[in-house]
Amino acid sequence: MSRSAYTKNASNRRTKFWLLILSLFIATLAAYIVKALPRLALISTHLPASRTIFTTTTKMSNYSKELEVAQLAVQRAAILTKKVFHEKAKGTLSKDDSSPVTIGDFGAQALIIAAIKSNFPNDEVVGEEEASSLRENQKLREQIWELVKGTSLSDSAAENILGGPIASVHAMLDAIDAGNSAGGDKGRIWALDPIDGTKGFLRGGQYAVCLALMVDGDVKVGVLGCPNLPIDDSATLTADSGKDQTDSKGNGVLFSAVAGQGSTSRPLGTAGLGESKAIQMRPVNDITQATFCESVEAGHSSHGDQFAIASKLGVTKPSVRMDSQAKYGSIARGAGDIYLRLPTSATYQEKIWDHAAGDLIVREAGGQVTDSLGRRLDFSKGRTLAENKGVVAAPAAIHSHVLDVVKEVLQAKK
Ligand code: AMP
Ligand code: MG
Repeated sequence: MSRSAYTKNASNRRTKFWLLILSLFIATLAAYIVKALPRLALISTHLPASRTIFTTTTKMSNYSKELEVAQLAVQRAAILTKKVFHEKAKGTLSKDDSSPVTIGDFGAQALIIAAIKSNFPNDEVVGEEEASSLRENQKLREQIWELVKGTSLSDSAAENILGGPIASVHAMLDAIDAGNSAGGDKGRIWALDPIDGTKGFLRGGQYAVCLALMVDGDVKVGVLGCPNLPIDDSATLTADSGKDQTDSKGNGVLFSAVAGQGSTSRPLGTAGLGESKAIQMRPVNDITQATFCESVEAGHSSHGDQFAIASKLGVTKPSVRMDSQAKYGSIARGAGDIYLRLPTSATYQEKIWDHAAGDLIVREAGGQVTDSLGRRLDFSKGRTLAENKGVVAAPAAIHSHVLDVVKEVLQAKK
């Protein structure tokens, strides 16, 4: 064989070899695709679902579902409390600590816990009320059941989000008793005060339906329904704001906050959620003109200490006294500036449901909330703020000044 024929033959053999390798590769690839096809098809059919899972996860991380459920649940419960206010027989009982509780407290707790459990069955709830007195008192139980049965949001989509009506009187009692969590620093726990400021509620003054979600002891979502506060954020507090509001029109506001996302207000409605506006604390350039709020009840905070602190700060206006966490909501929207709650007793432990929502709403609106020693409120210690004494809430820019004066006044008493 000539040298050139030999070279040509060798090159043909090489081409054939590579062609063989190439066809083997294509055959393997084809076989793989055929085998994998059903799985690929399955993935593509599930693509919208996978996307939903992704969105839900994203949503869960910013608590939008929790916020929506909490806002609608508070809005629905406020329909019930307003109904009770206009009833002659409010079913008022005296609890062991001689604080009053009404059919409104029980009914609102049942409706809110049912909504939480329908959406987040594994979450726990620290609720102020429990149902033992209703299990023994048939008349009261029936009175509450009639109310609960007859209360729903007028928007059916919104009502469906809450899981619709409670199925039976027994389910209602169980919902109330599901507020028995011991609280703590682990997991998802809601703090609920179905009617904060029951005394204000009975007087026709301020009260609030309060709900907050804590995760590992930190407040992540806070909602306050205040049926007797004005809708208008720019309506500044006056001495009358905490008094009887029975004949006032244009009232009813829903405050909300999510950690890291700011605070809002919107009208408290009876259907779906109204349009929201961002709220901010008002800057205090001249503390002599600041408005400070405190409890109506002299037994709940020391009016004397608070007067001394306000005087020392140079505050010239008299305090605005109002019941409930409506105080937190009012300062968060800039209708007032400072909220002081100095202890009246060395042993009383504040309850987490009296502060969790308000604490977040004020902080997310540019405020700072601490106790009288400057410690952040610690919601991880169980059902009470066992590690705190009193509350000092003010715009962040002046909080440390206010706190210094609080400490001076308390020190001077010793
Ligand atoms: P307020 O309307 O701001 O005065 O607060 C009402 C809440 O005060 C109620 O929900 C009670 O849990 C709480 N409370 C009852 N007794 C006391 C007390 N001795 N000191 C502070 N808060 C109290
Ligand atoms: Mg309360």
